[in-house]
Amino acid sequence: MKMYAVIDSVFRQEACFRTIAEAEKEIDSRKRYDREFTMENSDGIPGRDYLTIQIVERDSQPCKVCGGEATNTPEQYAGYPYCRNCYHTGSAADDQHMNDLSYFRQAFPDAEVGVEHTGGGCFWLSFRWENDPFYYAATAGDACVPDAGKWGDGWGCVCCYHEDEDHHDYDGRMLLYKELWDEEAGVELPGFTKRQVIAAIKKDRKERTAA
Ligand SMILES: [Zn+2]
Repeated sequence: MKMYAVIDSVFRQEACFRTIAEAEKEIDSRKRYDREFTMENSDGIPGRDYLTIQIVERDSQPCKVCGGEATNTPEQYAGYPYCRNCYHTGSAADDQHMNDLSYFRQAFPDAEVGVEHTGGGCFWLSFRWENDPFYYAATAGDACVPDAGKWGDGWGCVCCYHEDEDHHDYDGRMLLYKELWDEEAGVELPGFTKRQVIAAIKKDRKERTAA
């Protein structure tokens, strides 16, 4: 996709971004944009500065969500182009697993259901209610969401979590847990299905309300 490379500037980055939109209109046939600016340096002293932007074509695709440059390899994220930011915020997962997510969301219409990045490249699917403990579902060992295509039956755990430190569920309470890898045979095992995940959460919420 088309990229803008700032090839010569003493400008602060923000100044560059502000002028990129302007540069796009004026970029000449050499695919370059040169401009001289008057600006103040960090001591407030006015001076002159230069900004040169060049358009470069890179062998990349735009992110399916935000249109920025995708950074994944074709093998990742089921071959869809996503940028690192949309991957880490969970927006890519939202886009990629739209059908499965809407299935979960329909089961809990009063909850916020979505993929959250938990840090270190790990993700979980969270179910959040206001003023209530939240639940998450993930694969078992590596605490991620199942690969694309395995959202139907690739869940390894469902856990209830309370954000209040004094609550007995603060450390998390497993509702379902299953290893998804058979060490001895070296084969992958089917996990819990979407229906089982939903049923476990519904049952636990019901029991908690009754208690
Ligand atoms: Zn993006």
